[in-house]
Parts: sequence; structure tokens; C-alpha cells
Amino acid sequence: MGAPQSLRVVAPAPLLQVDGVSLEYRTRQRVVRATHQVSFDVHAADRFVLLGPSGCGKSTLLKAVAGFVAPSEGEIRLEGRRVAAPGPDRVVVFQEFDQLPPWKTVRQNIMFPLRQARGMSRAQASECALHYLDKVGLAGFADAYPHTLSGGMKQRVAIARALAMRPKVLLMDEPFAALDALTRRRMQEELLALWEDAAFTLLFVTHSIEEALVVGNRILLLSPHPGRVRAELNSHQFDLASQGGAEFQATAQRIHRLLFETGTAGGAEGTTASARTAQAR
Ligand code: ADP
Ligand code: MG
Repeated sequence: MGAPQSLRVVAPAPLLQVDGVSLEYRTRQRVVRATHQVSFDVHAADRFVLLGPSGCGKSTLLKAVAGFVAPSEGEIRLEGRRVAAPGPDRVVVFQEFDQLPPWKTVRQNIMFPLRQARGMSRAQASECALHYLDKVGLAGFADAYPHTLSGGMKQRVAIARALAMRPKVLLMDEPFAALDALTRRRMQEELLALWEDAAFTLLFVTHSIEEALVVGNRILLLSPHPGRVRAELNSHQFDLASQGGAEFQATAQRIHRLLFETGTAGGAEGTTASARTAQAR
């Protein structure tokens, strides 16, 4: 109705919409509410971070986006279509180092979902696997078995396997949390370089404020159990080089206050213009 198509200014629709999503676990004794009416939009090529303390429902939210957990309230949409089941358009990289079947070589690990879910021939899948292994610096380890690799190398393989699937959204659940500090930093750097190169859309979970600022361009702050949206802020101005700088430190402290101080209504007053107040629910 109204203005013709050509006169309307249409913002691009979000790639992923999480709309008033509550998530619950039902045990025989009781119902555990993991998140309460969480809403956020992820746009194409975002590096969107879910940040909050342990137990606030980050992993559960990621599982819901992946299609493993159904919302008890609200809806998740990918390109406008309701997410109802897992699919190859959403691939998850987990924290654990044992996500690669140990009886397959590195190359076979990457080839397997390409053949199963993407229907590639053996030759195509092998070529694709080698391409992404090269991108994560592991071209020389294609025929190695996972148990011969370090934790960081295993995570690189898991990332290569996920990227090779060319998902619409790459989901990462604290993928570097079990790594030593130096490897973790290196992996953050590599992830950002991969993003520059391949421009995928990332939904990344962490409980580390510093990691959120480095990895993300947008950060959703979740309150402790059950997770509710505290605030959403932009963080595209930060990278590994800005870590430790004055602005970085000030923002980290502000986020810390937003996450852990309960007194302030809505939680987002006193923040700079880059912080957008979340819906105070
Ligand atoms: P986070 O990833 O932020 O640490 P989770 O999403 O793992 O949080 O968990 C959110 C809440 O749901 C926590 O209180 C946790 O104890 C609970 N929870 C997680 N998994 C289960 C489960 N399988 N059964 C019952 N409660 C669960
Ligand atoms: Mg978790």
C-alpha cells in the first residue's frame, strides 16, 4: 500500500532474527529457564557476540539457533524462515577438542560433511578440504589423525571443516576457551583474518569481555541466569592491537558494570552513544 517500490527505503532484512526467545530445560522435578525473551538481529557479515557469565544460557541460545533446542516462547528465523531443525546452513564449532572423529584423517574429517550434506564428489570434497586446510595453515597435516594434533590445531581443523560447508551462519561456542593464552590470541587473530578473507557471518559465544571486544563487531550482553538482554553495543572499533589501550579498557570496565551491577534500571545508562539500550524487559 502507499509508496511505489522504487520510493521506499528498505533496510536489508536481518539474516538471522532471534525474536523474544525463551528457552527451558524440563527435568522431572522442575523447569529450568535458560533464557528469558531474548531478541537480537544478526546481519550478513556480522561478527555478533553473545557475552555473559557462565550459566546465562549462551550455549543454549546457540543450540537453539542451530536447531537442536526448540524455543518455549518466541521464534528464530533465518532469512525469514523459522528455524525448526538442524541444517547445513548453520554449523557449530564447539569448545571441546574431541569434536573430530578420531578414526578419520584431518582431510577425511572435512570431506565427510561435504559429501553427506553438500553432495560433493570425492574429488570435489578433497579439493575443498585442502583449500580450507590451507586457509587455516594446516595444508601439511591433511593425512594426519586428530590425536597427533595440538588443541589449537584441532580447533583449526574444526574451523576449516565448518567454513568448508559455507554455512549461512557460523556458530562458535567458546571455541578458544580451552586453549592457552598465547594460542588463544593467535586463534583470535586467525579468525579475524579468515573473516576478512571469506566474509562469513559469525555468531560467537564467549564469557570473556576482552575476547568479545576483539572478535565482535556487535556484542549482546546477557544477564546472569536466566539470560535476558542487558544491552547491545558496537565494538567494531576494537581489534587485537587496541587491547590494553585506554578506550578498550574503559569499554571493558563499562561492560563489566553492565553485566554485574544489578541496581541500574535497564542497565545501559551512562554509556556512550555506541551503546544501544536493550529492551528493558
Ligand atoms: P552458558 O553457556 O551461558 O554457560 P548454558 O546455556 O549452558 O549456559 O546453560 C544455561 C542454564 O541452563 C544453566 O542454568 C544450566 O545449568 C542449565 N542447563 C544447561 N543444560 C541443561 C540440561 N541439559 N538440563 C537442565 N538444565 C540445563
Ligand atoms: Mg556454554
